Amino acid sequence: MEDTSPLTDALAQLASTARHLNLSSGMHAMLAQSRRELMVSVPLRRDDGSTAVYPGYRVQHNFSRGPAKGGLRYSPSVDIDEIRALAMWMTWKCALVDVPYGGAKGGVAVDPRQHSQAELERITRRYTAEILPVIGPEVDIPAPDIGTNEQTMAWMMDTYSSTQGHTVPGVVTGKPVALGGSLGRASATSRGVAHVALMAMSSRGLDPTTASAAVQGFGKVGRDAAKFLTEAGVSVKAISDVDGAVYSPRGLSISGLTAHVERTGSVVGFEGVESIDPADLLTLDVDLLVPAAVEGVITAVNAGLIQARIVVEGANGPTTNEADAILGDRGVLVVPDILANAGGVVVSYFEWVQANQAYQWRESEVNERLEERMTRAWYSVIEYAGAHQLTYRQAATALAVQRVVEAHELRGLYP
Ligand code: NAD
Repeated sequence: MEDTSPLTDALAQLASTARHLNLSSGMHAMLAQSRRELMVSVPLRRDDGSTAVYPGYRVQHNFSRGPAKGGLRYSPSVDIDEIRALAMWMTWKCALVDVPYGGAKGGVAVDPRQHSQAELERITRRYTAEILPVIGPEVDIPAPDIGTNEQTMAWMMDTYSSTQGHTVPGVVTGKPVALGGSLGRASATSRGVAHVALMAMSSRGLDPTTASAAVQGFGKVGRDAAKFLTEAGVSVKAISDVDGAVYSPRGLSISGLTAHVERTGSVVGFEGVESIDPADLLTLDVDLLVPAAVEGVITAVNAGLIQARIVVEGANGPTTNEADAILGDRGVLVVPDILANAGGVVVSYFEWVQANQAYQWRESEVNERLEERMTRAWYSVIEYAGAHQLTYRQAATALAVQRVVEAHELRGLYP
């Protein structure tokens, strides 16, 4: 059995990058540690009057290039090591797409599906109050991740603002547009995933109008990624969520499936298509695989069975290091998370800029600037990978770590 976790994988990726870049052991040690970690307990008064308590975390991995930035996750499996790994990957992602942030991540070990809206609001407001000393528009700016959404961000902004005596829209991104959110933010991660997937297909000589895909996860990232791929002519044959998976050899109707999920809460039971084992989705005979759910789903056990020629990581950390090596040996092109799903943090940055300027950009302007940044990051990664004989993950990590190191060296050590 593969002995792995997101944190061991993230640390091993950093170690190999440190060797490649010839970093000093001191610099390596500094990058391997979070700058600040806060563990809190989040007590909840339940609707029935009883009390539950959930552990919560906010980890700030690095501030060298600017305020910390990263999502907030609500999932029962959240723990400190997972949040540490996700925070480190955020540092690399922000550096890779050159937005002026360090990396952070937060989480509460709670299953949002087991709670009413009123309970979720109380959890969010209490968690925000607990982490208040370490967040702020110039300090650390949360955003949505698994199990959280625009409404969560609205509650966070309101809780933070009420302690400041005035509205502070720049404290979170991924807010509703009515509260100063950016046009195009809700679909930005997915738009970036699809854009990068199309560039990857073109680099492998694949025509999108004859290509097929499978998408794991039908949440904020997976759903619109499937939609944009379909719009580009790709036949999305299989989609899964936490409850099951659906398959159609002719391609799924994404609008039909979206309406079904809005009605029932799951992809399961969508009419006119086949049900398949969710584990089998990963090994289907398709050209493109987009894992857009959780970490550690492509492992040493199934990597040898994957038939897709291209894997585009919509999720963070879906491929373990061992699986990554197997896919690399088999000639499968893996577009790493810190490149593939960076569209979200790029438009989060645009949202923060708009909030700080109290000005709103047109949606077309947001999308154009997003595509330009993703294209620039894509070419920087393929050029570096070619020049140094590295995989795209190794190249993306090296480019990112180099930028963080440069910022750190310019600032120097205090005292
Ligand atoms: P979400 O909560 O909106 O959706 C998650 C989806 O994954 C749901 O459809 C859920 O049912 C499904 N899922 C959960 N466990 C699963 C499993 N074991 N097998 C199959 N499906 C499963 O979350 P999201 O925001 O779409 O995030 C998905 C991934 O993308 C995460 O790794 C997240 O860190 C990453 N990501 C999100 C953003 C963003 O802007 N939301 C940006 C960058 C990266």
